[in-house]
Amino acid sequence: MIIIITGPSGVGKNTIINELSNHINFYFSTSFTTRPRRDNEKEGEDYYFISNQEFNNLIDNNEMLEYEEYGGYLYGTPNSEITRDGIVILDLEVNGATKLLKSNNDYIGIFIDINDDELIKRLVSRGHDQEFINKRMILANSQREHKGEYDYYIENQNLNTAVNNIIDIICKLEEQW
Ligand code: 5GP
Repeated sequence: MIIIITGPSGVGKNTIINELSNHINFYFSTSFTTRPRRDNEKEGEDYYFISNQEFNNLIDNNEMLEYEEYGGYLYGTPNSEITRDGIVILDLEVNGATKLLKSNNDYIGIFIDINDDELIKRLVSRGHDQEFINKRMILANSQREHKGEYDYYIENQNLNTAVNNIIDIICKLEEQW
């Protein structure tokens, strides 16, 4: 079962997926990116960190299921990640997620969001300046236009509630699968 999780930047997709891993078994699809590694990130776990040249080679060799540019860097899911058994979870930005979701009726899409005040608070706490936050809020509003294309919508006002809602969704889907 392929589950695509998306939502505006700052809504807490990462935190939700990390917390989910304490409750259910799934395979997290590790993407390739040209973004530099952050101090807390592990190669091969959070991402495979590669150069632009390597990324373009993967595209040329048809090894990318989908890819997008985001924040000046490339991010892409290799075909190999979705051939795994069991539950596979992908964490994608909204453009790539929406295109991928439409490409296969069997894929499950979950759109995560929070209200504007909370989103601004989270972006501030990540140390972003006002100009960056304004841009992200404009982007968030255009990303929200895709909400209706998703199978499920989750509000992340409270982490435990959001995680429990996703666990319920996955359990019900597994019964039908
Ligand atoms: P970050 O740089 O904060 O880790 O990720 C930036 C955005 O890229 C996030 O919204 C994340 O969901 C998205 N992202 C990560 N991997 C992929 C991918 O393989 N494809 C697409 N389309 N988006 C990705």
